[in-house]
Amino acid sequence: MLPMPALCWLCQLPLRIAHHGLCSRCLSNLATPPPLCPRCGLPATSTSLPCGRCLRSPPAWQALVCVGDYQPPLRHWVHQLKFSRVTALRVMLARLLLLSWLHAYRTRALPRPDIVLCVPLHQRRSWQRGYNQTALLAQPLARWLGCTFSHGLRRRRQGAVQHQLSAQQRRINLRGAFQLEIAVRGCHIALIDDVVTTGSTVEEISRLLLAQGAASVQVWCLCRTL
Ligand SMILES: [Zn+2]
Ligand SMILES: [Zn+2]
Repeated sequence: MLPMPALCWLCQLPLRIAHHGLCSRCLSNLATPPPLCPRCGLPATSTSLPCGRCLRSPPAWQALVCVGDYQPPLRHWVHQLKFSRVTALRVMLARLLLLSWLHAYRTRALPRPDIVLCVPLHQRRSWQRGYNQTALLAQPLARWLGCTFSHGLRRRRQGAVQHQLSAQQRRINLRGAFQLEIAVRGCHIALIDDVVTTGSTVEEISRLLLAQGAASVQVWCLCRTL
């Protein structure tokens, strides 16, 4: 029997390079995000200067890199990644994030990270699902970039389900929710999440990392939305 060719996730045509997951035509057709603030990743007028919101009240992290908005087809893929651990999908999504980061690295002079961390699930949720979808993205990214992937972040407690809370309640709910089990002093950190909305989770973790002496924190996510 002939092996099945790998197909493009969008147009279903056979791929020349199987692990890329998307053909070059579909990749170039993926919606390019509008100009985004380099600090918070939300739509802005400049891609090189922080937006007005960030000038007034900057997030704890230094830079945010995303693939796009929470729209199809990305939204659909993020959902699939959460509920099925299809390896081809995770590699394709990690590669999209890598391409976005490489672009930002060249145009925004971001430091190359020393350590890649992912936003942890609470252990109970991780057991239910069997895996943490952000770790599925972080592992190949760390391998390709030659940096360390670490499980050194722990979620101490479950807390209420975040999306049912107001922004202020989210911040209170997350205070002290994470624990760092590795040394990060002087290290540049990439913190991976699948979707960043209010940013309260990555904000809390960034504060923790910087308080422990991290040199900088970049947030890398597939989707950035409000
Ligand atoms: Zn295609
Ligand atoms: Zn901003």
